[in-house]
Amino acid sequence: MPLPPASPLSSVEGPVLFAEDDGFAGEASVFNMTVAHRPHVIVGATGVADVQAAVRFARDRGLPVAVLNTGHGPSVSAGEDAVMITTRRMTGVSVDTARRTARVEAGVRWGQVVEEAARSGLAPLAGSSPQVGVVGYTLGGGVSPALGRAFGYAADHVREIEIVTADGELRRVTSGSDPDLFFALLGGKGNFGVVTAMEFGLFPVRELYAGALHFSGDDAREVLLAYRRLTSTAPDALTSSLVLLRAPDLPFVPDFMRGRLTVSVRLSYLGTEADGKALIASLRAAAPVLADTVATMPFANMASITNDPDEPGAAVEHFTVLDELSPSAVETILDAAGPGSGTRVTMVNVSHLGGALATPPESANAVRRDAPFTVFALTVVPPDDVAAHGDLGLELIDRLRRSGGGRRHPGYLSPADASAGNVRTAYDERVYERLQAAKALYDPHNMFRCNHNIPPRA
Ligand SMILES: Cc1cc2nc3c(=O)[nH]c(=O)nc-3n(C[C@H](O)[C@H](O)[C@H](O)COP(=O)(O)OP(=O)(O)OC[C@H]3O[C@@H](n4cnc5c(N)ncnc54)[C@H](O)[C@@H]3O)c2cc1C
Repeated sequence: MPLPPASPLSSVEGPVLFAEDDGFAGEASVFNMTVAHRPHVIVGATGVADVQAAVRFARDRGLPVAVLNTGHGPSVSAGEDAVMITTRRMTGVSVDTARRTARVEAGVRWGQVVEEAARSGLAPLAGSSPQVGVVGYTLGGGVSPALGRAFGYAADHVREIEIVTADGELRRVTSGSDPDLFFALLGGKGNFGVVTAMEFGLFPVRELYAGALHFSGDDAREVLLAYRRLTSTAPDALTSSLVLLRAPDLPFVPDFMRGRLTVSVRLSYLGTEADGKALIASLRAAAPVLADTVATMPFANMASITNDPDEPGAAVEHFTVLDELSPSAVETILDAAGPGSGTRVTMVNVSHLGGALATPPESANAVRRDAPFTVFALTVVPPDDVAAHGDLGLELIDRLRRSGGGRRHPGYLSPADASAGNVRTAYDERVYERLQAAKALYDPHNMFRCNHNIPPRA
């Protein structure tokens, strides 16, 4: 639709798309198709000025703003009144080798940073999938499956954030310049504006002893118990997760997984191969190993630790924090998703947090520290019938959640968690109050509410 010259959106360099325009559906498309978007207008931002124009357009009309990069983190649908800003064209990355930092624009994905940093022997606290967006990941904390327990959350190492706030102004935020906004952004997710760029620390890591041990699902109890023992004494240099997976009977799936239940432990050790071998020897001996990919690898190959899917689809997810991988938690998991459970849940994932993830950084942020484990249940469902399958896996997560007092984690929230009441449980009470106060200051009309929303303090 042609825009009238007086429209603030007429200055936008990127595409401005309304529902009837070609390219609208593609621009609103997402990786996880459980939540679809049909906003009033989409602004395909190419830089800060486009973001400012879109935010000012929304502000002047009292419309909500939705931000979409890769669509890996679904929350709520951007409805017909929303102004959606897509950031995928903002793909600048620069690595400062001397300062060991990277600066990324809003549309950058982890794969780009891993590759760029590896050229200088440096590593970011990247997510498991190279396709996940750096900014969306980091605003929720960001747990690296390779280095998380060694160095903490990605959010802990952010130096500077450039953001367009609800008033349309561009701010450069550091822990020194605006401590309350800096605190709120890191953990408070997309509630405080549109981040246009971010600078964060890198680590001198060239190699890992990493990969996965795969076992038959029939051995799930032995492997879970061995994993429980391993995680109870693991050094911070070992980051790991365990996955019960029912893989489809399809040609692209490795033979040993195809159409059956397997249990896999994904491991990443920052240390020598000899120490790593000794550390996981008891796990290797827990049951017959169907496949073993744990070896010394270049950091740049870290995506092979988990081999996340890269094709879009619909996956219903439910998450919880777990205080302890206790024998009773193990039995609850086996009962709900082990062999013979008959569950339709595709995958149950237990991630070991703690280590440096439990230690607050010097400059405070809103990320949860008291989460020794997180668990999620994920079910691949038909994209056109998500509602009928929305509760798959919820019973297991509800049972585990009770032992954690109902706590959630900002980095692990699904569309099912998107009510204000549920989002609130992702934060300690005092952290949540501070977030609401920052929201009242920087987004008093809750323009940024198409997300896991934190409403402003009344
Ligand atoms: C396959 C897969 C692997 C994953 N691996 C990990 C992992 O290893 N560790 C981990 O911690 N998490 C992981 N995640 C979770 C992921 O970090 C979150 O889903 C994150 O929100 C994805 O961000 P995105 O920008 O890619 O997604 P999007 O869906 O595009 O964005 C998610 C939300 O982030 C906010 N947002 C995004 N960009 C901006 C911006 N520029 N300004 C303001 N708000 C913004 C918006 O509210 C948006 O709705 C994974 C998810 C998937 C699907």
